Amino acid sequence: MEFPATISRAPTRPQARPEAGDCPEFRHDAQADAGPPPRRSSAFYSSVFAQIEEIGWERLVSSTGDGGVSCLAFRVVDDQGRVHLLEITLPMDYPSSPPSIAADIPYLPKIQWSKSSKLKDVFCQFQEHLKTLQEFWSTMDEIDKVLWVVDPAKPTHAMSHRRIALGDDCYILLNVNARKPRTLPEDEKKKFHENLAAVLDVSLPAPPSVSTCNDDEQADCGICYAKHLPVDDELGIHSGCATDYTCENSSCSRAFHSFCLRDWLRSITTTRQSYDVLFGNCPYCSDPVAVKVTDR
Ligand SMILES: [Zn+2]
Ligand SMILES: [Zn+2]
Repeated sequence: MEFPATISRAPTRPQARPEAGDCPEFRHDAQADAGPPPRRSSAFYSSVFAQIEEIGWERLVSSTGDGGVSCLAFRVVDDQGRVHLLEITLPMDYPSSPPSIAADIPYLPKIQWSKSSKLKDVFCQFQEHLKTLQEFWSTMDEIDKVLWVVDPAKPTHAMSHRRIALGDDCYILLNVNARKPRTLPEDEKKKFHENLAAVLDVSLPAPPSVSTCNDDEQADCGICYAKHLPVDDELGIHSGCATDYTCENSSCSRAFHSFCLRDWLRSITTTRQSYDVLFGNCPYCSDPVAVKVTDR
């Protein structure tokens, strides 16, 4: 295992001091006058090792900083199985001063700390804090699942905003209160997106990717919004066809019927034609697209 090996080197540093146990870190009254001590005491390291042990070495993801233990990162799994990284930074006068924490969550808990507190207490307080955020994350997960979120593309646990497409190039910016994710008016029994639709009095479109996985592997066309073109003699070889063109921009990857894309490109004045190929831009991401004119 990597981490204990790194840390085991740590206690050798302070041992160079003649009387490591006499370090001002543990004499709280002397602390203010002496300023921050240049090194940690060996008692500090053995105490921190014991405290990591209480949490469990298997939860320790990394340990860095002064002597390898002043910044510890622990893996914390919440009630719904989401994985969080809790970073704990130990000040030079730890444990008389509380450790500071950081994590990718909307807001941090206020750590309760006393002279007898251990790292395990910080860990448990953080775990308790995650419980209070479960409803917020469930709400955000639901939004990401059923609504057409265009931004952020890869939301983190801390992000409480979402830009939602309503269709027709219309978007709204949602900001969910992490402390009270269900403050939207209307019916408390209903889900967030149902209330949102009721408040706005519109039907909210589903994300394009959901329609992709719902039904076979086939995506809906970004122009006519159908999976298959109608069965119609006038459409020639395209009659009843599935989408056959995908935008090459990997962050877009919107599917189209080449038939629809061609009609759309023809309606745009900036589209250029070279031989039998139309060159234009993807209606969704504006990246270049090209489609043959004549394959009816
Ligand atoms: Zn189409
Ligand atoms: Zn595109």
